[in-house]
Amino acid sequence: MENKLSFYNTLSRKVEQFIPNEDGKVAMYTCGPTVYHFAHIGNLRSYIMEDVLEKTFRYAGYDVKRVMNITDVGHLSSDADTGEDKMLKGAKREHKTVMEIAKFYTDAFFADCAKLNIKTPDVVEPATNCIAEFIHMIEVLLEKDYAYESGGNIYFDTSKLTDYYVFSSQSEKELLVGVRDDVEADDNKKNPSDFVLWFTKSKFDDQELKWDSPWGVGYPGWHIECSCISMKHLGEYMDIHCGGVDNIFPHHTNEIAQSEAYVGHKWCNYWFHVHHLNDKSGKMSKSKGDFLTVSLIESKGYNPLVYRMFCLQSHYRKPLEFSYEVLDNVTAAYDKLVRKIGSLKEEGAVDEAKFAEYRAQFEAALGNDLNTSSAITVLYDMLKADMNDATKLALVKSFDEVLSLDLATAHAKVEADNGVDAELEAYVLAKIEERKAAKKEKDFAKADAIRNELLEKGIVIEDTREGVKWKKA
Ligand code: AMP
Ligand code: ZN
Repeated sequence: MENKLSFYNTLSRKVEQFIPNEDGKVAMYTCGPTVYHFAHIGNLRSYIMEDVLEKTFRYAGYDVKRVMNITDVGHLSSDADTGEDKMLKGAKREHKTVMEIAKFYTDAFFADCAKLNIKTPDVVEPATNCIAEFIHMIEVLLEKDYAYESGGNIYFDTSKLTDYYVFSSQSEKELLVGVRDDVEADDNKKNPSDFVLWFTKSKFDDQELKWDSPWGVGYPGWHIECSCISMKHLGEYMDIHCGGVDNIFPHHTNEIAQSEAYVGHKWCNYWFHVHHLNDKSGKMSKSKGDFLTVSLIESKGYNPLVYRMFCLQSHYRKPLEFSYEVLDNVTAAYDKLVRKIGSLKEEGAVDEAKFAEYRAQFEAALGNDLNTSSAITVLYDMLKADMNDATKLALVKSFDEVLSLDLATAHAKVEADNGVDAELEAYVLAKIEERKAAKKEKDFAKADAIRNELLEKGIVIEDTREGVKWKKA
């Protein structure tokens, strides 16, 4: 299959042409949510951009199999195996069982995804479904001498690898080796960077979910789940693995260490990481207690798809700052866009040459390291271009397979909210253009006549510095 897509690969630290292991197929994995609380809109930025990535592959003709885990056990409050178990913390907070918490927040996560038009991955697997697979992988790692038992826990021995810090540059590696001060001292570890594969000596005697294992009753470490769940469904070779930038270290670093030790060869070729959404005070986090959710922005009157558009307008590798002022601006832009699309008439035949030309431009923007904002620019340019409405509508529908902003259907809702229908809008916009032309030709009598004609129809226009604005009288 001809290859037109390139993405930044965190592993090679450069933008690379995407070449999957099997021609025409993509094996894709996404680290799923830890379901102890609602997802904040920062988490959802990652899932929106990963959704766009998956849809870009499909748009380019690939057959994608996408797998995602649900973390319902083993994720401690620090990603480096220390602190309290996040699920247990959620259960205590809400006086429920861990499984009740997991069910409630898994459902809430997918409800948020639905509002944001995020497609559910082909396979979604909770960690608690795969305990036998985790135990098997740990047994193999012990047999191969990549793991050891100490103080009742099983650890991965990072000193067995020639290159543990795979995502770091040479100078970063020199700084990192042996000086991980983010890790609480654990006397059982042989090396500070070793990590837990299986806990039996938990600091938390009240750990609710425990399983029998060859090393005693306990529970798995967080990293092992993504290695096992991805291999269970995608096999020993994976094309692309995604997550937020905070997953690079230690989570993805540890996933690579144990997976490649287990399979004995390179495991995943491309690593795709989405930068964080920040609020004015800094990085968003669920543990801070007060955080932004889809329900919150909805309760303030915002359409969740406007948040999706806000994310698409900036590049996934740049930090993004959230503010309601920006969301207001995106709302205005979204409403205007869908109203314009709503005024297009499904008449005439689709111009196949034009269709192919713009479709290729749109795909090229996405294939250029997922440049969603230039993909949106292609949409705007296309709407302004000289071609019939039927071709424009066909292109809108095509682009929306990836953008997923309900572009072709949202005008009805926006019009109902604003009390203006598409036909009236198209008429007013045409009159404004006519008046602009009259003014340019210094035909002020005609310009005034147009203003009066609109007024008779109950439309007031106003000349402002940003252009002509109009509203119902
Ligand atoms: P969690 O539920 O904490 O395991 O996180 C789910 C996903 O959201 C992971 O891929 C994280 O890397 C990602 N993530 C966490 N915080 C943010 C943020 N502020 N902005 C974007 N993505 C985030
Ligand atoms: Zn993961």
